[in-house]
Amino acid sequence: MTLAPQPVRNNLVEDLTGVDAFSHDKIAAAAIDGHAPWSRAHAEALGQLVWAPATLVAARNAHRYLPELRTHDRLGNRIDVVDFHPSYHELMSMAFGHGVHALSWTADQPGAHLARAVQSYLWNQVDGATACPTGMAYAAVPTLRETPELAAFAERTARHGYDPAFAPVQDKSAATIGYAMTEKQGGSDLRANVTVARPAGQRGPGQAYLLNGHKWFCSAPMSDGFFTVAQTEAGPSCFFAPRWRPDGTVNGIVINRLKDKLGNRANASSEIEYHDAYALLIGEEGRGVRTILTSSDYTRLDFAVGSAGLIRAALSQALHYGDHRRAFGKRLADLPVHAPVLADLVLEWAGAAHLAFRLARTIDRHDDVSERLLGRILTPVAKYWNCKRAPLVASEAIECIGGNGYIEEHPLPRYYREAPLNAIWEGTSNMMVLDVQRVLAREPKAIEPLLDEVRAASGAEPRLSDAAAEIEELIKIPGLTGRRLVCAIALAMQGALLVRHAPPAVADAFCASRLGRDWAPTFGTLPAGVDVASIIEFGRLR
Ligand SMILES: Cc1cc2nc3c(=O)[nH]c(=O)nc-3n(C[C@H](O)[C@H](O)[C@H](O)COP(=O)(O)OP(=O)(O)OC[C@H]3O[C@@H](n4cnc5c(N)ncnc54)[C@H](O)[C@@H]3O)c2cc1C
Repeated sequence: MTLAPQPVRNNLVEDLTGVDAFSHDKIAAAAIDGHAPWSRAHAEALGQLVWAPATLVAARNAHRYLPELRTHDRLGNRIDVVDFHPSYHELMSMAFGHGVHALSWTADQPGAHLARAVQSYLWNQVDGATACPTGMAYAAVPTLRETPELAAFAERTARHGYDPAFAPVQDKSAATIGYAMTEKQGGSDLRANVTVARPAGQRGPGQAYLLNGHKWFCSAPMSDGFFTVAQTEAGPSCFFAPRWRPDGTVNGIVINRLKDKLGNRANASSEIEYHDAYALLIGEEGRGVRTILTSSDYTRLDFAVGSAGLIRAALSQALHYGDHRRAFGKRLADLPVHAPVLADLVLEWAGAAHLAFRLARTIDRHDDVSERLLGRILTPVAKYWNCKRAPLVASEAIECIGGNGYIEEHPLPRYYREAPLNAIWEGTSNMMVLDVQRVLAREPKAIEPLLDEVRAASGAEPRLSDAAAEIEELIKIPGLTGRRLVCAIALAMQGALLVRHAPPAVADAFCASRLGRDWAPTFGTLPAGVDVASIIEFGRLR
């Protein structure tokens, strides 16, 4: 007897498309409704783009057809131009057109930084490569605005729009900005920079200098100008180097080569050299590291937000697959060993999103001393925590999808390669730890607003009292690596935020596992009795 082939039951899952990444995201939507309702239309417009088929194609193509450096023209003249695939420009137009980089600077409204953070959270679900220039532009605007000589840059960087023309800024409808600081000597210790700056005429803030040296990392080298650090007689100093000199000639910035990177591949990260590059001194000579660090509050917030977005994107994929793929006669989401994995990922997202949005709100409420102190501690903590969790979530989400999640046609390999990056740039995890230690050494009371917020939620969840007490103990232990303290602060703050703002099933499971330590160090190990179905439902986009 021969067996006739059976018809194949197609168990492959269609792409996640057509869902609204904002309105159906219960945390982002509640944040906007609660603190920046005026921005709802902005978030809705972007939310509908995130999982649109055309957006997915653009993101895939931008990372498949990579930027290319053209150093010379046909006649042998140096031109230093990067060519991008049209998909990259399409993504840049979407992101900059929706004000992902600038909503906070253009909308004179309460909650403007939160509103922009939600835009960035949504955009990071689309693409990390273009989220680099949006984050840099966001951080650049305040410094540009404070420098009268850079008014044209300030005005065009804050505009909602994208103009890729390689032309002087005054001839463009919009501008983008890069940060070129890292040298071969190292990125963490900017004082070791060897690029030198000599005055072209008079010295002092706003005056012209000529830079000579190199930068080992310079992402988005087609930006219209760069904040950079170079040595003057007074020490490391901050400069702004435009791509074009005021006399209309191209500035002395040579692009040596583009980096061949693990991820973030659509973003042209380059090695550059300054050859008598024209630049303006920003702030005082010798105060460059301090000056550049004023932008870091914004970029670090943006990476905490971006990693929350990445976590959300990976979760959305895992949940979508769990709801549509069947195994052993059931949906994956209903399998008793798989469902707690999905629920654990929901908890990671809920904690990361709340932490990032809470940090954004401290910038909106900067006039309040407690909020300022809270922001000072939470900035390095949220950058550390969210950026550390994103790779773990991306990895688990791939496994949730199985072999299909490991194939390049699926978006997850892209998120997976992207995920470790946010922990590295704009201050590595250890730099975040040192920053927390520095704040507490200079101003021990800076921890108090945070402890107050944790304890205020402890009536409903006693484990938060223990978490606050643990933080106080860890601060006192000499020789502790500091990472323990940062993790304790992150978890306590996330627990407090979830107790106040998330459904009880989510808050209970988070606190029992992460604070009560009824949890093993892999996902899917939640305590017995947690309401897995309700947690998963909270995470679903609907
Ligand atoms: C894709 C990509 C794009 C980038 N784009 C840009 C860009 O546009 N502009 C730019 O300026 N830079 C850019 N960077 C560089 C990035 O900012 C640096 O890589 C980062 O600051 C770390 O510097 P480093 O690589 O030299 O590492 P190092 O500073 O050498 O650090 C190596 C390790 O040592 C640890 N470490 C160093 N000092 C200490 C200490 N005192 N205590 C404890 N641990 C320490 C660090 O935490 C890290 O783990 C980019 C990097 C990447 C990967």
